[in-house]
Amino acid sequence: MSRVLAAVAWPYANGPRHIGHVSGFGVPSDVFSRYMRMAGHDVLMVSGTDEHGTPIQVQADAEGVTPRELVDRYNRVIVEDLHGLGLSYDLFTRTTTGNHYQVVQELFAGLYDNGYIIAKTTLGAISPSTGRTLPDRYIEGTCPICGYDSARGDQCDNCGNQLDPDQLINPRSKINGETPEFVETEHFFLDLPAFADQLNAWLDTREGWRPNVLKFSRNLIDDLQPRAITRDLEWGVPIPLEAWRDRADKRIYVWFDAVIGYLSASIEWARRTGDPEAWRQWWQDPQAEGYYFMGKDNIVFHSVIWPSILLGYSGPKPQSLGALNLPTEVVSSEYLTMEGKKFSSSRRVVIYVRDFLERYDADALRYFIAVAGPESNDTDFTWSEFRRRNNDELVAGWGNLVNRSISMAAKNFGEIPAAGERTAEDDALLAAVRAGFESVGQLLGKHRQKAAITEAMRIVGEVNKYFSDQAPWKLKEDKARMGTVLHVALQAVRDCNTLLTPFLPHAAQRIHELLGGTGVHAPMPEIREVEDLDNGLSYPVLMGDYTVGTKWEPVDIEAGTKLEAPTPVFKKLDESIVEEELARLQS
Ligand SMILES: [Zn+2]
Repeated sequence: MSRVLAAVAWPYANGPRHIGHVSGFGVPSDVFSRYMRMAGHDVLMVSGTDEHGTPIQVQADAEGVTPRELVDRYNRVIVEDLHGLGLSYDLFTRTTTGNHYQVVQELFAGLYDNGYIIAKTTLGAISPSTGRTLPDRYIEGTCPICGYDSARGDQCDNCGNQLDPDQLINPRSKINGETPEFVETEHFFLDLPAFADQLNAWLDTREGWRPNVLKFSRNLIDDLQPRAITRDLEWGVPIPLEAWRDRADKRIYVWFDAVIGYLSASIEWARRTGDPEAWRQWWQDPQAEGYYFMGKDNIVFHSVIWPSILLGYSGPKPQSLGALNLPTEVVSSEYLTMEGKKFSSSRRVVIYVRDFLERYDADALRYFIAVAGPESNDTDFTWSEFRRRNNDELVAGWGNLVNRSISMAAKNFGEIPAAGERTAEDDALLAAVRAGFESVGQLLGKHRQKAAITEAMRIVGEVNKYFSDQAPWKLKEDKARMGTVLHVALQAVRDCNTLLTPFLPHAAQRIHELLGGTGVHAPMPEIREVEDLDNGLSYPVLMGDYTVGTKWEPVDIEAGTKLEAPTPVFKKLDESIVEEELARLQS
């Protein structure tokens, strides 16, 4: 057994999340964490909503609310969506907690103490008519990289690149249209080039990473520059240095505070579970492993910047939290598109998690993401393919096997029948299913979820073939042989259900119950209303008890367990949903 940190990308709290987001970070990290727990590892899965930065402030301004009111709203929406998907976070929190502020300031101060944060004079914008500083969000201009004409002072929303206000072509104030004046101002930078050798040496020791992630990371290290970690903005974590602490116009840059969330959430989890030092087992034990899940646009933060922060805090001078582990692996996914187009809320090429879950089951989406998601290539979500996979694979393959084996046993025996003497075919099938614990488990441990679910469904196909070949419905005259065939089939269903539990936890719990099982088979997260440990404000978190539930091993079914006629576990989708959904996209 080992300790495994599952560090999941932090969704930005400026709106509800769409299925592209959860395909990249949410579902894959949950499948991995569920499997690792079932296999006996001690998993700590943490994340939360990312709530600072200019885009939140801009949107709050536009809606006439405070940034805090805005993030309160979307934190709750996102918590509910992730809960609906059954994502088993040990803690899903947020970046506006008192705990997070303390941890961010501690890391900033530690890096500063170790000499890795440098003050630099840069050009900042002021309003010529008032002489006051113009925060980044009030400056707009043409992006020097892609030519988009409404890029903001810190970021272009079109190409996603981070910018400085003085890089904008034709900069203008969004308040009154005047051209800002640029004057010298001081900001803090993280000295990334100081870590280049250590980062390269660390990457040399990495095994099993997806090749594109490793190659991309090495290219980044070849061209490292100091990176700004403070901003002209009022919404964010204050800078914890003398003479800066009380400045209302300077804040820590949102990306710097968000990556520290993995650590602060682990500390918050430990504080909430009554053992405030417990987080250290995942962050300081050299045997502990840490896996980071994200979309490919965030690789730089996880394979270069976050490791630099961890290295810089860990030495040369010891800091109060102590030295911290580097990631074991950065697990990055590619992009999901929708009907051939990039997801876009403004262009309405989007389906939000909430809307999806109102009309379809969470496991239908989880299945699609596992089998056809953007694991190592950009992939396209289409409604017709979603329907086809759901109907032909989930319903006709797995659902049908569950339904016909349990209903036939319920009808003819009212219970799990006893097995008589087994044939070579019976034994071969049971052996094939048991081999799945090794083959599917190996793939899951290496983040090859598409291959893992394909292998699990191949085994389901073998069980279906066995069932058709043995045709128990033709054995009315030979009840003993019928009982043996159904016993073998139900044993195979029991074990296939375990193989599919990381992917389909809601269905797995139901199938467990249809087989006469009681108690928790697949544990689920709960939404808990908690109080901030430092300032008393209340907010919802996801937590759960995941020590219960089935293990990654075959479990013998018991003859005599009562069975009732099942209702279908998965829903067949009518052809009309495709046109209805496409019409929604275009409306
Ligand atoms: Zn741009």
